[in-house]
Amino acid sequence: MRISQSIIKDMWKYKNDLLCGLVFRNKWIHGQFGKPSADMKLGIYFEYIATGALPKGDKVPEPVFLRDGETLSKPYQVVHEQVKVFNRLKADFGIDIKKIGHKAKHGNIEGTTDIVASWEMVFREENLVKYGIANNPENLVIIDLKYTGLIDDRKNPLGWHTDTLKFKEGLILQPKTYIALYYMIMGYKLPFFFWIFDNKKPGNNKIIHVEIPMSEIDEHIEWLKKAEDGIQAEIDKGLEPKPEYYRCLACEFNEFCPHKQVLPDIINIQI
Ligand code: SF4
Repeated sequence: MRISQSIIKDMWKYKNDLLCGLVFRNKWIHGQFGKPSADMKLGIYFEYIATGALPKGDKVPEPVFLRDGETLSKPYQVVHEQVKVFNRLKADFGIDIKKIGHKAKHGNIEGTTDIVASWEMVFREENLVKYGIANNPENLVIIDLKYTGLIDDRKNPLGWHTDTLKFKEGLILQPKTYIALYYMIMGYKLPFFFWIFDNKKPGNNKIIHVEIPMSEIDEHIEWLKKAEDGIQAEIDKGLEPKPEYYRCLACEFNEFCPHKQVLPDIINIQI
C-alpha cells in the first residue's frame, strides 16, 4: 500500500467520525475518488490559475460563468482577485518557485507538494532564530496553498484559525508528513508554510510557518513507517458506514447506499 498524506488524513478523518468508512473504502481500495464539491472546485481552479497545477486526471479546470456565458460568477471573480494578490506577494517576498506539484517518494511513503520554492528571506539570520528555522543548501521551503471559506474558523477541526491551528491534528499531519518525507529524501529539514486564501474576501490571506522540533519529526518518521500496518488493521477490522443526513445528501454514492440517512435528526432542546 502506498502511504500518502491524503490517505493518512482520510484515515484520521474516518477515526474522528468526519468521514464515512464506505467513502474511504471506495476511494482508497476501489480507486473511486468521486466528484469534488463546489468549494473544492474553486480551490482546484485557484491553484491552476495561480501555479498552473492540474488536478488528478490532468483535466484543465473550468470556471463557472453567468448566464451570458462570458461573465465569471462571483466566486470565480474572487479567485482571479486572489491570484493577483498571490502573484504580487510572491514577487514582493522574493519567493522563487522551483517545483509545482512535486511528487516526493521514499519507500512506500509519498506526497505531492503544491510548491517547493527558494525563499532567501526566511533564511536571513534574524528569521532563522525568530522562526526556529535551520538553514539548507538551496534555501528551499515547502508551501502548501489553501483556498478556503474557513480561514478564521476556530471550531471546525479543519478550520484555519491561527491560535487553534496547532491543536488541530488533522491539519498538522500534513506539515509533519511533508517535513519528514523530505527529510528522509534530502537529509535536511525544509521549512513548511501554509499560505491560506479566503474564498470570499479578496485580499484576505495569511502565511503560517509551522515550526516543528526535530524530535517530533523523528517520531513522525517512525510513525509513518508503521502507518501502513495501522491503516491495514483498520481496513481488516471492517470500515464502518458513518451516515449523517447532510453527509449522505452530498455523498456521491448515496443512490445505491443502504446505510444512508435520509431524514435529518430532530434536535431536542430543554428549557
Ligand atoms: S450515503 Fe452516507 S452512509 Fe452511504 S456511503 Fe455515503 S456517506 Fe456513507
